[in-house]
Amino acid sequence: YQQPDSQAEALLKEKRKQLLGDPWHFYQEPLHFERARGPWLYGVDGKAYLDLYNNVPQVGHCHPHVARAIGRQAKVLNTNTRYMYQSVLDYAERLVALTPEHIDTCIFVNSGSEANDLAVQISRVLTGQRGAIVVEDAYHGVTDATMDLSPCEGRRPDYVSYLGVPCPYRGPHAGKPDMAELYAQDADKAIVQLDQRGFKPSYFMVDTAYCSSGVVDVPEGYLAKVEAKVRAAGGLIIADEVQAGFGRLGQMWGHVARGMKADMITLGKPVGNGHPLGVVMLNKNMLAQFMETTELFSTFGGNAVSCAAGMAVLDVIENENLIANANSTGDYLRAQLRQLAQTQPLIGDVRGQGMLASVEFVTDRLSKAPASEQTGQLLELMRQQQVLIGRSGPLKNSLKLRPSLVFQPEHVDIFIAALDKSLSQLSVQ
Ligand code: PMP
Repeated sequence: YQQPDSQAEALLKEKRKQLLGDPWHFYQEPLHFERARGPWLYGVDGKAYLDLYNNVPQVGHCHPHVARAIGRQAKVLNTNTRYMYQSVLDYAERLVALTPEHIDTCIFVNSGSEANDLAVQISRVLTGQRGAIVVEDAYHGVTDATMDLSPCEGRRPDYVSYLGVPCPYRGPHAGKPDMAELYAQDADKAIVQLDQRGFKPSYFMVDTAYCSSGVVDVPEGYLAKVEAKVRAAGGLIIADEVQAGFGRLGQMWGHVARGMKADMITLGKPVGNGHPLGVVMLNKNMLAQFMETTELFSTFGGNAVSCAAGMAVLDVIENENLIANANSTGDYLRAQLRQLAQTQPLIGDVRGQGMLASVEFVTDRLSKAPASEQTGQLLELMRQQQVLIGRSGPLKNSLKLRPSLVFQPEHVDIFIAALDKSLSQLSVQ
């Protein structure tokens, strides 16, 4: 490797701005990669970057089994669901075998946003209502309907009501023994608010990993209580599994790990390990009812190559025992973070489940004053040490750590050493 030519890099950045409108990134300088494998991304600077941020390559970047399956299918047949072909049925059969029993059909689309958008349409038809309940700071997608459901992006339409983040560390009921019940009362308030604005609940949509709300260890029983209240008011439950699903929380499904029953499951990111693939999963009677009103077809949704990719991802999760690894390596990650907290006072809280973790930084452990600025600096310092992490939460002082499920304790050790060094650098600044 040679040092990348700084003039060429500057030209690329300029081109990116002109051609793509300078897409969002959170580093002072965008990173430039040329290949990847497992938990590693390799830059044009010849450096290997450890990826704890990108939750799309669930089974590791560029997994050879997935790449081979895509290539093989692309050479043989790639068509859409207007025609009969075996692989879409095999894939749907395999997916529904993994879900709770009442979920037994699939609609294939191409992204998490599309899956959520479609779930909203189905809810509206099935309930005849429009009111929506989502979590404060949630993100559910980029389409017009899902943007409405993404308060972290700033919209607050009148047909949407919000539940406070049920955080055991920070928030009005943090640490109280009846936290689950107290936080769940937000659902009663949300239903009343909707009613006052002339809406009845059609659905509650929730990312059970609470990824954009700071990654929350939801109090036990909380989601079941909210579910019961929403159902009693006539609403359906949509589990947005784009972040929480496919083993991320140490079980196949996040909503199951968190004790909730869903009417619809929506999937995106990890399902194709980078190949664009989204799914809505639901009961066949619900789907039949919806199809009486709507003709459903997605050109690319469920195409033969996407199904081959999806199938291969499931092979790897099973063959490499990745859900067990998500639990053991995830536990090790959190244990190491807690140990680091003994010498790094900026660490206020360590959270997460399975291969999802978060650290909340505070300048004072008693007042819990958020170390938001320091968290931003930390991202940059970590990048200098070739470790990629993200941040989340309304106060922008929590880390979002979502490594691929192939992450091993040796990778955790590299991350912890880099974090320790970066925190020490911060404290002397
Ligand atoms: N739901 C959640 C919880 C997400 O995190 C995202 C993406 N960050 C989406 C939906 C939207 O998925 P996509 O970007 O594939 O449209």
